[in-house]
Amino acid sequence: MGRLIGIDLGTTNSCVSIMQDDTPIVIPNSEGSRTTPSMVSITEAGERLVGQLAKRAHVANPKHTIFAVKRLMGRKFLDADVQKMAKSSPYDIVGGGNGDACVRIRNKEMSATEVSSIILETLKKVAEEYLGEAVTDAVITVPAYFDDAQRQATRDAGKIAGLEVQRIVNEPTAAALAYGVQNEGKDEVIAVYDLGGGTFDISILEISMGMFQVRATNGDTFLGGEDFDVRLVDFLRDQFKEQTGIDLAGDNMALQRIKEAAEKAKMELSAVKETDINLPFLAVNNNGPQHLVTTITRKEFEDLTRDLVERTLEPCRAALTDASLTTKEIDHVLLVGGQTRMPLVQSMVSDFFGLKPYKGINPDEVVAMGACIQGGIIEGSVEDILLLDVVPLSIGVETAGGIFARIINKNTPIPTRKGMVFTTAVDNQPFVNIRVCQGEREMVEDNKVLATFQLQGIPPAPRGLPQIEVSFEVDANGILSCSARDLGTGREQRVQVTPNYGLTEEDIERIQTESQLFADEDRQKREIAELRNKAETLIYTTERAIEEYSDILEEGEIAEIKADLVWCKGKVDSTDVEALRDAVMRLETSAHLFSEVLYRDFLDKEE
Ligand code: AMP
Repeated sequence: MGRLIGIDLGTTNSCVSIMQDDTPIVIPNSEGSRTTPSMVSITEAGERLVGQLAKRAHVANPKHTIFAVKRLMGRKFLDADVQKMAKSSPYDIVGGGNGDACVRIRNKEMSATEVSSIILETLKKVAEEYLGEAVTDAVITVPAYFDDAQRQATRDAGKIAGLEVQRIVNEPTAAALAYGVQNEGKDEVIAVYDLGGGTFDISILEISMGMFQVRATNGDTFLGGEDFDVRLVDFLRDQFKEQTGIDLAGDNMALQRIKEAAEKAKMELSAVKETDINLPFLAVNNNGPQHLVTTITRKEFEDLTRDLVERTLEPCRAALTDASLTTKEIDHVLLVGGQTRMPLVQSMVSDFFGLKPYKGINPDEVVAMGACIQGGIIEGSVEDILLLDVVPLSIGVETAGGIFARIINKNTPIPTRKGMVFTTAVDNQPFVNIRVCQGEREMVEDNKVLATFQLQGIPPAPRGLPQIEVSFEVDANGILSCSARDLGTGREQRVQVTPNYGLTEEDIERIQTESQLFADEDRQKREIAELRNKAETLIYTTERAIEEYSDILEEGEIAEIKADLVWCKGKVDSTDVEALRDAVMRLETSAHLFSEVLYRDFLDKEE
C-alpha cells in the first residue's frame, strides 16, 4: 500500500488530511487554505478550474461552474429533490444515459461521479505536493445516511481520481473517531449532529475501551446549509421585486450575486445580530440601474429558517428510539459541519438534548481527521481502536404485489451477511429475477431500487422445487454485494447484476483515460511555464553578460551568442514545448562560453 490520505468530500468544502507521527494533520492547499471549495468550473478554452479558482469564476461564469454536486451523487434526474434543485440551479442538471442525474457543462455531459473525481484528484495533488511523494490510497467519508448507490458513486469517483479507496467511512463516525482519539480513555455515549452544506446526519455512538460502536444513525441527504442560503436568496429576491418590480428569475448573474451575498450574510449572522447586504447595479428598469441595499437581522433570518432546524430533530428522535436511548443517557453532543455554527442550530440542539454541545473540535476539519485515523487503523499504524458501524437503511427485495421484504435491517452492524432462499414460480423456469431495494417504506415503489439480479441457468424442475439461496453482503464500506448458491446441487449460481445507478467499468475506464488527457495537458502547461521562466532568466543574464564582458570573447563568438539570443527571444512565447526547450538549450550552450572563459582565466590566475 502506498501513501494514504483521509478525505472529507463535502457538499460545499472538502478537506484532506494525513497521519504524521501518529497524529492526524490537515493539509493546506496551494493557497494556504485548510479546506477547498467543492467546485469545478470549465473555462471557454476548456481549462478546468477547481476549488478557490472555480469559486472565483462562479459569479462571472455561473452556467459553467458546478457546486454542490454531492447532492446529485447516486441519484436519478427524475428524483423529486433533484428536480427541485435543477429548477433553481444556474448550471444545467440533466438526465444521463441511464437516467442518473448529470450536469451539462460546455455542451459536455458529466456524471456527478466524474465531477467529484476532479475534486478528489485536486485533493490528491494537494497532498502529493505537501508530501513530495505519490499518494495512492484514500479513506473517503460520506454522510452516514448515504445509501448504496451514493456510496458506490463516491467509491467510483475515488477510482477515477486514481485512488485506491481503502474504506468509505461515515462522516459522523469519522468525527467521533477524531473526538475519541483526542479524549482518550473516556467511556461514554455521544451524539454526533452533522449539518453540512448539503446533508444532515445524526449518529449515536458508544465509546468504550477503544471500541467505537454506532448504535443508530439517521438523517436527510437533502438538507443542509444550501437550503438555508436558498431561503435567504428567495427572501431577498422577493424584497427586490417588491421594491423595483423586477423579477430576477432567469438572470443567472444577478441570482449568483445574491447567492454569494446571502451565504456571506448568513455566516456573518452567526457572529453579529444584524448585517447589511449591498449589491449595486443588480438590474435595470425604466428608472435606470437598481440596487439591492438592505439590512437583515439574525432574528429575521432565524424566522426564515427555523423549520429547517426543526426538520433535523425528527431524525434525532428516530435515532434515539432505534438506539433505545433517551436524551438523558447521552454524555456529549458533537457538532460537525459548517452550518452548526449558526446560533439557532446550537440552541435548538442544546434544548433538544438538554446538553451544551462540545466545542473542542473544529467542525470543518474533524471529519477529514477521522478519515485518516481510520486509514491508520487499516494500515496498522493506529492500534487498539475498533470501529463498528451500521447499515443506515434497510436492504431487501421486492415480493408479490410490490411489497418490500426487508432482509438486512437498518442499524445492523457491518460487515454483515444475510441469506434468503428463492424458488421458481412456474415449471422449468430457467431464471429468477430479483429486485433489490433500499429504504424504510413498505412498498418497493417508495424505496430506491438499487439493482436487478437475475439468477440464471436453473436446471429444469417443477415450480417451487429449486432452492436458491441468495447471500446479501454489506461490507465495512456499507456497500452491498450479492452471490447465490443452488442448495440442491451446492453449486454457485450465476448472478447477473444490472445496477440501477452509477457507471459501468467501461465508463470508469473511459473517464480515467479522459482525465489522464487533462493531466497530460496540465503537465505540458507546467513544463511550458517552467521553460518560459528559464528562458526569461537566461535572456536577462546573457544580455547583462554581453554588456559587461563582451571583450573577453572573440567577435564571432559574440555574434553566435547574439543570434541564439534573438532566436530564444523569438520563441519565449511559443506554446510548442520542443521549440522552446530547443531555444533554451541553444542559448544555454552558447552563453556558457562566457563562464568558461571567465572561470578559465580565474583558475589560471589561481595557479
Ligand atoms: P461543510 O459541508 O461542513 O463545509 O459546511 C458548509 C456549510 O456550512 C455551508 O452551507 C456554509 O454556508 C455553512 N457555514 C459555514 N460557516 C458558517 C457560519 N459561520 N455560519 C453559518 N453557516 C456556516
